[in-house]
Amino acid sequence: MKSNRRQVLGWMAAGAVACPTCLSLGVSHAAETGHDAVHWDYKGEGAPERWGSLESRFRVCDLGLEQSPIDLQRSLRAEVGAVRPFFRPTRLRVLNNGHTVQVNADEGSYSDIVGQRYDLLQFHFHHPSEHLLDGESFPLEIHFVHRSAAGQLAVLGVFFRQGAANDELAKVFDAMPSQETPERDAGMQVDPLGMLPAARGYLRYMGSLTTPPCSQGVLWTVFREPLEASSSQIQQFSEIFPLNARPIQPLNTRFLLENS
Ligand SMILES: [Zn+2]
Repeated sequence: MKSNRRQVLGWMAAGAVACPTCLSLGVSHAAETGHDAVHWDYKGEGAPERWGSLESRFRVCDLGLEQSPIDLQRSLRAEVGAVRPFFRPTRLRVLNNGHTVQVNADEGSYSDIVGQRYDLLQFHFHHPSEHLLDGESFPLEIHFVHRSAAGQLAVLGVFFRQGAANDELAKVFDAMPSQETPERDAGMQVDPLGMLPAARGYLRYMGSLTTPPCSQGVLWTVFREPLEASSSQIQQFSEIFPLNARPIQPLNTRFLLENS
């Protein structure tokens, strides 16, 4: 484990690339290695304002100037290129990592972001939304986590507002373990395209993972059009995760771009 940890620190020093182990385990490397005395959380001793001091490799959570999430407001219209998700139905391999429910994607789904291929690794949920849209919070936000062959991370974010039930969300939430559990195969397929809006208007900025180690260099795309989830679906998730959203972070000197 020692060399593994050195490798993680190396990745952190590289800045732009997060530890793949953390990603595959839902950014829970600390739990795997047992290195942290106080585990990070959304409240109490491990609350977000303390993440940066829990472990040395989490310091960028406090010190980083390009952190996520942010309030998506006062965007600049720009030619930022197309985002084309090429998602396929995937086996519903679902886990509860103690911070969220996550579906690990089968190989083959990817997104073309400004001509670069990013493979879909997994998707997971936050309640309430982590990003705000012009100051507005939503009851749910889904994150589709991707990685390029070069190791660059890209996340597609989608908001859900309260309305009609979403069929693909129903599959995930019905299979969602209420306790922390490793991945299990629910024995069916889920189509991630059913959790993407038809309209492709989006906001783009450079940010970070929203969970420790808060690694920067993440290419963010958040779609402007929210999808709908029913009140009982929102409640189904919030009963297990009453709050799993990091507070918004300062934009600092970054640009927030919107496709025109
Ligand atoms: Zn997330």
